[in-house]
Amino acid sequence: LVALTGVNKHFGALHVLQDIDLTIARGEVVVVIGPSGSGKSTLCRAINRLETIDSGTITIDGKPLPQEGKELARLRSDVGMVFQSFNLFAHKTVLENVTLGQTKVRKIERKAAETKARALLDRVGVGTQADKYPAQLSGGQQQRVAIARALAMDPKVMLFDEPTSALDPEMINEVLEVMQQLALEGMTMIVVTHEMGFARSAANRVVFMADGRIVEQATPDQFFSNPRSDRAKDFLSKIL
Ligand code: ATP
Ligand code: MG
Repeated sequence: LVALTGVNKHFGALHVLQDIDLTIARGEVVVVIGPSGSGKSTLCRAINRLETIDSGTITIDGKPLPQEGKELARLRSDVGMVFQSFNLFAHKTVLENVTLGQTKVRKIERKAAETKARALLDRVGVGTQADKYPAQLSGGQQQRVAIARALAMDPKVMLFDEPTSALDPEMINEVLEVMQQLALEGMTMIVVTHEMGFARSAANRVVFMADGRIVEQATPDQFFSNPRSDRAKDFLSKIL
């Protein structure tokens, strides 16, 4: 479904993505881990073209990423993205946040968009918050709204970049549970996270990055019990 081949990206002299080859099948849940600065966020951002790449190709459903205009807007809705900071529209209600993309990009009629938004908000457990503004919600609730907003576009794949790292501990699980449920329902997901419990229980594959490279890929069982590279061993000894 998602394929990166020979992808390279520089920020000035810094080679942040180095010859990245990565394929993600439909329904697969891939957790990306690695030290700070290893290029995890840049990788995610490249996949929905928030970041350009210097060389290589990225395809979704076999099609190269569009460069601009309507096609790009459509790509951004095919690739749902959830960030560490919730990025909701502050002056729109929760319901409006989840309705807007549907009416603007997907051209869905307002009434139908609202019905779908309410159903999604129920599904992520914030149905009663629909008429509030983001600032009136807890971080965990805001992040679940952000997930509902991405899901409203019927994305082909969901990217999560450290979705729980800005949350208070007691709110982390409510977000992880929503993500776990999505994984069970067969959503294709790329998840950057330090939540190793989530990686163990939800991931089909762990991708370990260091210094802009994919150093190791394995099933969670293999990776956590028997990491092959020294970089991964070192990383795991610090976080587990
Ligand atoms: P973290 O775990 O801290 O989120 P990361 O693995 O997500 O790290 P990236 O955010 O992808 O890492 O950054 C990779 C490298 O690129 C870092 O050294 C970072 O400082 C650098 N970088 C990221 N964005 C930019 C930018 N817009 N301009 C210049 N350098 C950047
Ligand atoms: Mg990052």
